[in-house]
Amino acid sequence: DVDTQREAVLEALDNVSTRLTDEKSYLTDLDSAIGDADHGSNMQRGFSKAAEKRDDFSEMEPHEVVKNIGTTLISNVGGASGPLYGGSIMFASQELEGGITTESSVAFAEAYLDKVKDRGGAQVGSKTMVDALVPAVHTYKKSVEQDDLPPLEALAKAVDAAERGVAFTTPIKALKGRASFLDWRSVGHQDPGATSTLFIMEELLATAEE
Ligand code: ADP
Ligand code: MG
Ligand code: MG
Repeated sequence: DVDTQREAVLEALDNVSTRLTDEKSYLTDLDSAIGDADHGSNMQRGFSKAAEKRDDFSEMEPHEVVKNIGTTLISNVGGASGPLYGGSIMFASQELEGGITTESSVAFAEAYLDKVKDRGGAQVGSKTMVDALVPAVHTYKKSVEQDDLPPLEALAKAVDAAERGVAFTTPIKALKGRASFLDWRSVGHQDPGATSTLFIMEELLATAEE
């Protein structure tokens, strides 16, 4: 029911916020190599702010909680990643209006990916969060719709796909975002935004497994 789903969203939010706090300096190190060394603090700040709003979210429908997490990220993350993460979560939250089901979670994932691509103009191979997201979302959708896997197994496969997507960002040259200013010097460094996307997905999986 609504209360259980809201609790699950809040639990996921707490886990993501804790993880990003733990990974703050790692993400910032990645961003210092090919960016401006703020991705860890951007993500930690945004998700901590959202997690602090737990009490404000206590009466909301699950999709409204997700939407409010998005708006909180827009106002608190900053940089390129703030509007990408926040705006896309906000937009995709519409897909959860009828409740959080396996089907609506696929629709959410697809809407989220579409919005990130639409806003940022990155494709697979641009060395951004899109490199983690595209294989993850496609794997999740295929696992649910074609392979008939239960959502938890589908999500686990999606996390594996995201992990390979993150590894793929290292040898390629950045075509979008700050890292693209470095041209060939961005080669050999793992993308921070793809990495934070993987961490968030790992926490969604861990929450679902609980
Ligand atoms: P900024 O680069 O403004 O300091 P962050 O450091 O918080 O912002 O985020 C950088 C990450 O944002 C990159 O590692 C990349 O994954 C992602 N990113 C940047 N530009 C784009 C874009 N146009 N499309 C998709 N993702 C992008
Ligand atoms: Mg940065
Ligand atoms: Mg910045």
